[in-house]
Amino acid sequence: MTTRFEPPDAFQSPRFAQLPTFMRLPYVRDLEGLDVAIVGVPFDGGTSYRSGARFGPREIRVHSALIRPYHPVLRASPFAALRIADCGDVDTNPMDILDTYGRIERAVGAILAAGAVPACIGGDHSISLAILRAVARAHGPVAFVHFDSHQDMWDEYFGNRYFHGTPFRRALEEGLYDPKATVQLGIRGPVYGPEDFAFGETHGVTVVRAEELHRRGTGAALEPVRRLAGRKVYVSFDIDAVDPAFAPGTGTPEVGGLTSAQALELLRGLAGLDIVAFDLVEVAPPYDHAGLTAMLAANVLFELLSVVSLRAPAR
Ligand code: MN
Ligand code: MN
Repeated sequence: MTTRFEPPDAFQSPRFAQLPTFMRLPYVRDLEGLDVAIVGVPFDGGTSYRSGARFGPREIRVHSALIRPYHPVLRASPFAALRIADCGDVDTNPMDILDTYGRIERAVGAILAAGAVPACIGGDHSISLAILRAVARAHGPVAFVHFDSHQDMWDEYFGNRYFHGTPFRRALEEGLYDPKATVQLGIRGPVYGPEDFAFGETHGVTVVRAEELHRRGTGAALEPVRRLAGRKVYVSFDIDAVDPAFAPGTGTPEVGGLTSAQALELLRGLAGLDIVAFDLVEVAPPYDHAGLTAMLAANVLFELLSVVSLRAPAR
């Protein structure tokens, strides 16, 4: 398969025109021959505070229209290197998280079975458990890079084991990722007690707290990430890893976070990793201002597409 999908030429079709798929790529339902399948997962039934992330995929697509197709820092042309299309959304069930998990797992499983990298746009962070179930079925337990202000390793909330505060405890219990090959970046903010960190510590998860990142810089923060070279890697980017000054439109904001520039530096530091799937979650447009959060999220996705394209095999 040699046909590539490019965003429309902005000199022929201005970037504010046409239907808002991701970067105005073609909307493609046939997964055959795709290298990367962009798929929205509009679900926020797992939120514990401010809801609204169900509108994330749509808003991120709108703001992605401005992005140009060449990455000058990474020297990447993701759409020339890879066959990338927007495959629409998973039809989630807004009334039922477990039914939604089944729908996500089937949709992501189909993308993986077609040999493509799923690029998932949430939705709240609860969706990552279902994505990881499909990823682990295809690739086995993966290494894991997790950007977030929260570890999302709590046990339950009001008796519920499935919500956006628990996906990486459940996923670890299910053996979906390798905790000793896991790095969480940007963790910060008050918790219920010191015991909140015990689960990750016990299983050997590496945490780079936001305070350490600010003190030592992004280069030092990336050291444990570089040790994941050679592994199949899942990347999950919770937009609340970034400071609410740059990303106010999210469900559970925490102050003292990454700048948008630090986030871009960290993402570029993933170049060379074998990323088999990724997600961007927790953009809640009702709390956004001037599209700041959705615009940043669209750029995070472009960074990840660029990083993935650097390892593109010749087709
Ligand atoms: Mn999260
Ligand atoms: Mn978070």
